[in-house]
Amino acid sequence: MEVNRYIFNHGALLLERRADGGYALPNDNTVELDAELPVQHWGGETFVAAEMAAGSELPETLELIPLRATYALLPLHVYRLAEKARELLDWNRETLHCGHCGALQEFRSPISKFCPQCKTETWPKLSPACIVLIERGEELLLVQSRDFKREFFGLVAGFVETGESLEECVRREVKEETQIEIKNIRYFGSQPWPFPRNLMIGFWAEYAGGELSLQDAELRKGGWFHRDALPAIPERPSIARQMIDAWLKDKHSI
Ligand SMILES: [Zn+2]
Repeated sequence: MEVNRYIFNHGALLLERRADGGYALPNDNTVELDAELPVQHWGGETFVAAEMAAGSELPETLELIPLRATYALLPLHVYRLAEKARELLDWNRETLHCGHCGALQEFRSPISKFCPQCKTETWPKLSPACIVLIERGEELLLVQSRDFKREFFGLVAGFVETGESLEECVRREVKEETQIEIKNIRYFGSQPWPFPRNLMIGFWAEYAGGELSLQDAELRKGGWFHRDALPAIPERPSIARQMIDAWLKDKHSI
């Protein structure tokens, strides 16, 4: 059985440059590893997630590429497994010790750990975040987060807080960040977002009223943009881009 190895170093995936200029997972078994997780069976594939040992030398044909950039280089199913591998590695690093008693934890299954001292079992935890496309006729509300490193506009988004529903999260985030009211909130689709372990949950909504006033602490700028005059928008594979593309095609789900 073929077992692919997804080897990471600080969020970058190790890939092999092929003679034709393309990229693939490395066949090289000489790379020194720091951590290797149990074999995973998922999505019809068998794979292993591993971390490169710090300071290890790489052969010339191997390259470390930031995970998001590998989306354009790898078949989609390979990229999706790389996302999962990275999430598992992050989770592994954060849960070396039990959160209750501090003892060293052990793997109980490929996706769970067990504390031998206090018997607590843990699984990878996701952080759900809502993202919302707000339309006003032929216009779309786009905002530029202060977190964005490049000059582009995205959709209003934020993490779900304890005690609130997804719909309440959408309304609260929109209100906090823009002061406007929305109506007709509809589910669009979701996407795993392994930076580090988020689940993006996409909604569409319609503008219902209020004057746009951006929250200065989080947003640099924003406004209503006509469908024929959109600024630079997020790239694929982000769900924001999928939602905007779908809106431009009048398609209301993934
Ligand atoms: Zn414990």
